[in-house]
Amino acid sequence: MERIHPDSRTIIERLDTKGRVHRSGGGAARAEQKQASRTAARSDTASIRGREMRSRGTTQAATEPTSVPAERRPVTYSLNDRTDTASNITSTTGGPASSSIVGALTEINNGAGQTLVNTTLQQTSATRAANDGTNLISFVQGNYRFNKNTIAVNISFTQGTSTVDSDTLFNPRMAFSTDDSGAVEQKTFDVQGIATHELMHSVGVPHITTNTQATMYPSASRTDDVRLRTLEPEDRAALQTLYPVPPPPPPTI
Ligand SMILES: [Zn+2]
Repeated sequence: MERIHPDSRTIIERLDTKGRVHRSGGGAARAEQKQASRTAARSDTASIRGREMRSRGTTQAATEPTSVPAERRPVTYSLNDRTDTASNITSTTGGPASSSIVGALTEINNGAGQTLVNTTLQQTSATRAANDGTNLISFVQGNYRFNKNTIAVNISFTQGTSTVDSDTLFNPRMAFSTDDSGAVEQKTFDVQGIATHELMHSVGVPHITTNTQATMYPSASRTDDVRLRTLEPEDRAALQTLYPVPPPPPPTI
């Protein structure tokens, strides 16, 4: 069983189809994390349940910004090893899901103007969100009990203002594709677009409501989510606020 650091908390960001977004943190999430590790010790199919599951339609403001400290960067992610056969990925005309994830990570580095994240994915058999040192990305059933309208969830574990672990789970009963156009694309959620949104959360970027075109705008639709692959100026500014681009070295003479 994992130990709970006194300053640690869990931030859960859930992206829904209907624009309802939940961000929970602080004491309730800490209790949720304790509950998760308790139940995880009993059963591999234990579900994380938390305040955000019970407070539909409400948004809880973040308490303070969090970011990944320099010594933990670039952040390395591990893709669940059953992704290629995941039943919720209904078409891969646009390429394997792993390539879509790499595309999302590449866009985050481009937007940050520096290498925040490692664009080489590790593989893992893990399916559960946990503060275990593995930054999991998974499409298969794990320990999160999804609402039927929830597309994906990012669960970040923090200590103080530092993100120490961050896991992204896609709803196993929602249809995704890697297609960038066509009939299937219009009826499914875009792996790369949704991944870009969730992985931005994993490095601490909150929602942006000032531009409806922003990747970090808090809702997504099946017909208009391929554009989430491309960060808008507000998304890039949020990244660069959290991670200031180092100035170039002075010229040598
Ligand atoms: Zn979100």
